[in-house]
Amino acid sequence: MPYDTQPKASHFIDGAYVEDTEGTPIDVIYSATGEKIAQVHAATPAIVEQAIAAAKRAQPEWAAMSGTERGRILRRAADILRERNHDLSVLETYDTGKPYQETSVADATSGADALEYFGGMAATLTGEHIQLGENWVYTRREPLGVCVGIGAWNYPTQIACWKGAPALACGNAMIFKPSETTPLSALKVAEILHEAGLPAGLYNVVQGMGEVGSALVTDPRVDKVSLTGSVPTGRKVYAAAAEGIKHVTMELGGKSPLIVFEDADIENAIGGAILGNFYSSGQVCSNGTRVFVHRDIKEKFLSRLAERLDKAVIGDPMDPDTSFGPMVSERQMQIALDYVEKGKAEGARLAYGGARIDRDGFYMQPTVFADVTDDMVIAREEIFGPVMAVLDFEDEEEVIARANDTEFGLAAGVFTNDLTRAHRVAARFEAGTCYINTYNDAPVEAPFGGSKNSGVGRENSKAAIEHYSQLKSVFVRMDDVEAPF
Ligand code: NAD
Repeated sequence: MPYDTQPKASHFIDGAYVEDTEGTPIDVIYSATGEKIAQVHAATPAIVEQAIAAAKRAQPEWAAMSGTERGRILRRAADILRERNHDLSVLETYDTGKPYQETSVADATSGADALEYFGGMAATLTGEHIQLGENWVYTRREPLGVCVGIGAWNYPTQIACWKGAPALACGNAMIFKPSETTPLSALKVAEILHEAGLPAGLYNVVQGMGEVGSALVTDPRVDKVSLTGSVPTGRKVYAAAAEGIKHVTMELGGKSPLIVFEDADIENAIGGAILGNFYSSGQVCSNGTRVFVHRDIKEKFLSRLAERLDKAVIGDPMDPDTSFGPMVSERQMQIALDYVEKGKAEGARLAYGGARIDRDGFYMQPTVFADVTDDMVIAREEIFGPVMAVLDFEDEEEVIARANDTEFGLAAGVFTNDLTRAHRVAARFEAGTCYINTYNDAPVEAPFGGSKNSGVGRENSKAAIEHYSQLKSVFVRMDDVEAPF
């Protein structure tokens, strides 16, 4: 292993690396080779206690600092992330298996964007003044207290920053639990935040499986939980948070529609469908995996799509030319391959790929099914792998109804050159994040999140501030108090 992927210790608490080997060992596997590249230990109850106690202790002093001071530290951390982009991208590639071609432009960089954006915003957070005759009310925007972030394995650095940056900007402390599949990158985020001047105890990382997440969520000292994960986990975490009337952000799964009308620029539409199905080997929550293509252009779409998929460079994720890497784990690859079998059994036409690739690691081919119908399992369930379902349609009314006929509502996209149709369709999508003639952009300036079962709350943008702070109203009377007796 040319890189030292073994972290100094499993957890980062109160400004320092902490180990407790009593915790269940978690092996970190490089999915391009199947080899073990590191080991961490799940947090024991003692480690969870240390993290919560440190966060609880450190938070009030942080909240008492000015927004300008808090923001400066976050922006400094953003600069360090960018300076170390190469090393962080290599680590992210080892952690997830995603190609360096992607990690070098999408992970530490988007984390840095969030730290820079919310760092800049920290100084602008204010309440308002409400005049009531000669009396008045003012509002104070206050932090929530101790926030818990729980991550998925597909974007470990980005998720650690998307949750940490707004939480810290608002004056909260954060305890972040990465996915047990990808425990490495969040530790680097913690290290860098402290190097940038973050006081100890404000950004802590603890490792572990669902039980550790659950221990954090149910602790009465925790005020907010932000989860990125699947809908079934979201249901459990939301229910546990409700027990303590805690604030929540839920970034959950999807089965998003992407509609390609007959007048669309077909190369752009195929580009959108490729980004929305095969980037990160299809392991992106907002992917447009139900691609509705107008019947008139379907065969052309499929043949050009196949030509472009032939150009995918599948191989060593560290090679900068590689554009399609392995799945994150053997398990995730097996789940996706099982869906391929289900698609075949249901009578969908396998138009491209469909098999495991014969090499070390957990690689499968980019896969396209055509002639998929709405009732097929591959059109209803989130696969979270490189499996695109192409469905035919004929008219706008019909396709909107079918696009919305799902429990999920994370994202949706439309490709058309008809301006009014584009906006009409976007307005009718039942989804939190919509795209016109593009797919899967996620700039920090724009709200990101889902409706229906795909989530609650929004990450990024000014909207995230609402989910990491609360308003206090202060009534001020200038005249006398009129009491009945
Ligand atoms: P997952 O639901 O299996 O796990 C997510 C996290 O929750 C992990 O850290 C896990 O340890 C933790 N967890 C599990 N049970 C828990 C419990 N009872 N209490 C507290 N924490 C618990 O998801 P995954 O397999 O890691 O990630 C894939 C899923 O995440 C997909 O469904 C995908 O769509 C979704 N996702 C959503 C977004 C988004 O922004 N909406 C982004 C990325 C991934």
